[in-house]
Amino acid sequence: MRDSLGRPLHDLRISVTDRCNFRCVYCMPREVFGRDFAFLERAELLTFEEIARVTRILTGLGVEKVRLTGGEPLLRRDLERLIEQLARIDAIRDLTLTTNGSLLTRAKAKSLADAGLRRITISVDSLDDHTFREMSDVDVSVDTILEAVDAASQAGLHPIKIDMVVIRGRNETSIVDVARRFRGTGSIVRFIEYMDVGNTNGWRMADVVSAADIRSAIATEWPIERVEANYLGEVAERWRYIDGQGEIGIITSVTQPFCGACSRLRLSAAGELYTCLFAGKGHDVRALLRSAASDEEVREFVSGIWRARDDRYSEIRSEATESLRKVEMSHIGG
Ligand code: SAM
Repeated sequence: MRDSLGRPLHDLRISVTDRCNFRCVYCMPREVFGRDFAFLERAELLTFEEIARVTRILTGLGVEKVRLTGGEPLLRRDLERLIEQLARIDAIRDLTLTTNGSLLTRAKAKSLADAGLRRITISVDSLDDHTFREMSDVDVSVDTILEAVDAASQAGLHPIKIDMVVIRGRNETSIVDVARRFRGTGSIVRFIEYMDVGNTNGWRMADVVSAADIRSAIATEWPIERVEANYLGEVAERWRYIDGQGEIGIITSVTQPFCGACSRLRLSAAGELYTCLFAGKGHDVRALLRSAASDEEVREFVSGIWRARDDRYSEIRSEATESLRKVEMSHIGG
């Protein structure tokens, strides 16, 4: 199945909650996501059975890779029950999760792996505790997150990916530190260009550290060479250390957009499908799931959404698009 620009469906990102225990300044700034913020009510969240049903239907349309995210996915109680249901869907070849790591104890990492999670991505924006706390705006030390990385490793959730959003004037001096910490460990650091998702983070182009600058910061320390993508539509540009100490990824969504190969669909915690990270509105599938609709009817609905898809926000980003009303990343799932 192809969308209107000929792109196949391959990846599904599922947000299991819009809540998070971090207040990263670039994602959920405390001034906006404060005490009075109206998060989703429990009844509004898709149940695990509803998520598994729509996922199964989407695998029939091409989905092979599923990532659980949020908000902070480990805040959703009994997440293992969802993972068990998803792990039973044969067509899913890759089942992974993105977390801030703060709740990832050894026991939790093991129970996620036992439930069928295959891999994990943990966000680490700096190794410097002060910078880390300034970016996440919570009282959690970076050592706690590094322990979570060890816990994931013990549980066999390999290869672990480490996500680092790079923001000018905040953490670009941490690029080399983070690369050094994970070189030779088998974990893959993915440096992410700061994106204009949502409307609350005050994004400015001037705050973006380009992929070219990230690459040259790394290359000054260790020679690197380009590696082929694992599959068409893979998000990160892959680079390998020439001395054999592993690889890194750079997510170049601002300076070198990859809309042309984008094969991702997002399911929000409230059961809306979004065909682009920068979309203004989603398509409600929850109402259909909660009606007496058959799988065939749900399939028709979601395939219609994909076929009509024509989003290419990052390719047409400009001053005009920056001010468009966009959904927040914590709602749609990062
Ligand atoms: N709570 C989990 C976490 O911290 O990884 C999962 C959700 S979070 C929205 C997923 C990823 O999106 C994180 O790695 C985060 O750093 C990244 N992210 C959030 N806002 C971003 C932005 N404006 N630009 C680039 N990446 C962003």
